[in-house]
Amino acid sequence: MSCLFCRIVAGEVPATVVHETKTTLAFRDIQPKAPVHVLLIPREHVPNAVDLDGDQLGGLFAAAREVAAGEGVAESGYRLLFNTGPDSGQEVFHAHLHLLGGERLSRL
Ligand code: AMP
Ligand code: ZN
Repeated sequence: MSCLFCRIVAGEVPATVVHETKTTLAFRDIQPKAPVHVLLIPREHVPNAVDLDGDQLGGLFAAAREVAAGEGVAESGYRLLFNTGPDSGQEVFHAHLHLLGGERLSRL
């Protein structure tokens, strides 16, 4: 299996998991860009966010709400971001939702 995030799902690559459901996994980004930087992924391999179906998207956003509460940023605010394709800088082609917070983030 060559996909890094599939290997994390399989337990073959270690990750600091902060939340999981039957269909999603959330773990800390290895190179955090903010004090709170969690990646939320579907367990199923889907290369890009735009290929996710409604149930998968709903599951990721429901998980994001719980992660934000668990990380203590539900009230202070946070950014949810999908990089999609080369010009976005996407590096891992297993769809993942970035959850960033814990400080005042730079304006987009
Ligand atoms: P993207 O640029 O949207 O594809 O984001 C990929 C993210 O995965 C980057 O923020 C990386 O720091 C992160 N990343 C890469 N390898 C790992 C890993 N083994 N565990 C956790 N996060 C990782
Ligand atoms: Zn994958």
